[in-house]
Amino acid sequence: MVEEAKRTLAYLCPACRQGVVIERSVFQLAAAGSDLPCPCGKSSLRAELLGDRVRLTVPCLFCGRDHTVTCSSRAFLHERLLAFSCAASGLDCCYVGEEGPVFAALARLEEAADKLEAQAGAQGTFLDELVMHEMLSELRDIAQRDGISCTCGSRRWNLQVNYSSIDLSCAACGAVMRIPAATAGDLDSLCCKTRLVIHGREEKP
Ligand SMILES: [Zn+2]
Ligand SMILES: [Zn+2]
Ligand SMILES: [Zn+2]
Repeated sequence: MVEEAKRTLAYLCPACRQGVVIERSVFQLAAAGSDLPCPCGKSSLRAELLGDRVRLTVPCLFCGRDHTVTCSSRAFLHERLLAFSCAASGLDCCYVGEEGPVFAALARLEEAADKLEAQAGAQGTFLDELVMHEMLSELRDIAQRDGISCTCGSRRWNLQVNYSSIDLSCAACGAVMRIPAATAGDLDSLCCKTRLVIHGREEKP
């Protein structure tokens, strides 16, 4: 018996902004349409096999909508790397293929997403203006109480505002803590904190 071929699918979750990688055997994929969820449970990639075509419904981090794309079942099950892109942003939104090429492509996409995230923030564009505004004022309160520190022992830090997150970085060791600033839930979880600890390069005993 031939060893069962595996396929790897990947996308960026719009809810938690993590790269999601899913591995399924060709048999699993061919057997039925599958919902392939992000571990956060807030988004999922859907794959439906329709005879000789495959239809994918992909949640898109870049434009916030779902994209429906199709390809031949042959390509879906055998190509080394298939990339599907978001028409609104021109960036890729989904990869299907062999494990190695898919991981490499996803890593490049995550880098591009990171750059965009920082650029938009620098230009004052935010996913949710109100949430970002409240988050920053909450951070200011925590900072005024001297509640921000790094495990390396430093209490000096820098702040970078992104499109849907805030990066706190330690001025001494350079460690970065990313705080999501996209939803009311993100705001709630920051509001209940009195101190923030950046996980630095060296833990102090
Ligand atoms: Zn997620
Ligand atoms: Zn899109
Ligand atoms: Zn530090």
